[in-house]
Amino acid sequence: MTPGRPVPPPLAKPVYPAPDGPSAGAGTDAAGVLAAARGAVSSDSGLVPLTVARRAPAADDVEIAIEFCGLCHSDVHATRGEWGGKVYPLVPGHEIVGTVSRVGSAVTDFAVGERVGVGCMVDSCRECDSCLDGLEQYCENGMTGTYGAKDRRHGGTTQGGYSSSIVVDRRYVLRVPESLDPAAVAPLLCAGITTFSPLRHFDVAEGDVVGVVGLGGLGHMAVKLAKAMGAKVVVFTTSGPKVAAALELGADEVVLSRDEAAMAAADRTIDLIIDTVAAPHDLNPFFRTLRVDGALFQLGLPSEAMPPVNPGALIRRRIAYAGSLIGGIAETQEMLDFCAEHGVVADIEVVGAGQLNEAYDRMVAGDVKYRFVLDTSTLQAPAEEADA
Ligand SMILES: [Zn+2]
Ligand SMILES: [Zn+2]
Repeated sequence: MTPGRPVPPPLAKPVYPAPDGPSAGAGTDAAGVLAAARGAVSSDSGLVPLTVARRAPAADDVEIAIEFCGLCHSDVHATRGEWGGKVYPLVPGHEIVGTVSRVGSAVTDFAVGERVGVGCMVDSCRECDSCLDGLEQYCENGMTGTYGAKDRRHGGTTQGGYSSSIVVDRRYVLRVPESLDPAAVAPLLCAGITTFSPLRHFDVAEGDVVGVVGLGGLGHMAVKLAKAMGAKVVVFTTSGPKVAAALELGADEVVLSRDEAAMAAADRTIDLIIDTVAAPHDLNPFFRTLRVDGALFQLGLPSEAMPPVNPGALIRRRIAYAGSLIGGIAETQEMLDFCAEHGVVADIEVVGAGQLNEAYDRMVAGDVKYRFVLDTSTLQAPAEEADA
């Protein structure tokens, strides 16, 4: 809880009855499918055509025909082995939108043809305090990532959404409002919820001033969501050309963070800062822009050490320095419903399977406004892959 702030609204409680394993047979003689996919076979292979075996839906499973999948920076790090410990072949993708193609015998809350989404996790232990509180992202036994993770119930390694289909337990499937463009919804499943969760936790409302550091995939969502919550939004950027882009997105003000006079003028003007920058950077100048009881949430995970935080900057204004990781399933559903209510989606550039490697290079160079989304109809069918 952020000191001095109102208590955030309670999260909807998840429905985790007694943990159950895969329900053998699922009451049907359904077969699994071979899905067309793109993934890495080594750290330097780039993304190549692959085939992924998807299990037959078990009783609690939802099989999804994937339409779109967002490209996240994590995908680049994971496929290139920059975070280590990955098993190849690896099919990335955790911003998945599609339609239900089959359901298991115990699934009553999703119907064939319904538009659904899957974010960064496909399972968790369902027993620990975090899971029971609807904070599955903080599962004490480790959430199961949508790709590159050990599948705790079905064995093997999870494979993600750069693929024509996926099978996921109903408890980790989101309902995607039909009023939103499905391609532009995809990035909400990672970039959207990652920024929504700290804004919600801080109970941002009209009258609050929210600072956003960095204007990439996460930052542009933070601007849109904070505006939709009624806040005044100030974007901090090091890049002059991003000033106009930030204003176009709806930011009320832009501060060039390397301009000392501009930073001094922003002293004690901000209630909450959402810091989306993943490269090491000095946080102390940003603490000085916060009011008493302000907070800075860091969302990017730098691979190298950050300059040290000056405790005096925190102490003198009772400032909280916090981190935050995606959001739970109930909260992600709340975010999607909020976005439908306010007409919020990501700004995207749709790419085909053949453009993925180029898109990765452009992401690393920061050359995208603001998220690439893969159109999975461009993936080759498995039969064609086999002939290739
Ligand atoms: Zn992501
Ligand atoms: Zn758990």
